[in-house]
Amino acid sequence: MLKINFDEIKSILCVGAHADDIEIGCGGTILKLLAENSSIEVHWIVLSATDERAEEAVRSAESFLREAQDKHILVKDFRDTFFPYCGTEIKEFFNDFSREISPDLIFTHWLEDRHQDHRLVSELTWNTFRDHLVLEYEIAKYEGDLGKPNIFVPLSESICQRKVETTVSAFRSQQSKKWFTPDAFWSLLRIRGIESNSPSKFAEALHCRKLIL
Ligand SMILES: [Zn+2]
Repeated sequence: MLKINFDEIKSILCVGAHADDIEIGCGGTILKLLAENSSIEVHWIVLSATDERAEEAVRSAESFLREAQDKHILVKDFRDTFFPYCGTEIKEFFNDFSREISPDLIFTHWLEDRHQDHRLVSELTWNTFRDHLVLEYEIAKYEGDLGKPNIFVPLSESICQRKVETTVSAFRSQQSKKWFTPDAFWSLLRIRGIESNSPSKFAEALHCRKLIL
């Protein structure tokens, strides 16, 4: 079994279409990475959040990245749910920021996600970063599009607890949504824990479509 050594990662990029996507998709993995290596430089980019959602996104990112010595949080305001129809602007944004960074590891949406904004972000990540390790995170949703991920990150129960509690408390504007509940987040952590034989019972899972050894 191949294991990636977190100590060797110096910089990561986390990209999310919406305010809470990164936290839900790979928040536990980020917490684990930083617990093992706080010297990682983190670029955290949320593409669509305004007003209250933007404030929540920044507060949440600050909390998830508390241990990071070097972090850059950027929240943009591209139009929620309309990403494919304003793709030119978003692609220009990707082109611009890709000139400034070259991360060792990138977290983005799953390329086969059924949400149009998520999918476009994943496509543009692959279009833009052409010599990088890209891992795609998953988000459970009404569309029922969960796939069969092939990378698993076992997480301690305390890391899962922090992921779920921070996410739920940070995004108060989402609490009327039926899917935005601690048990929903715990359930996927538990299923991925079963699939990876996690000693703690919990894991996050990601899709890796290309790995160069
Ligand atoms: Zn989203």
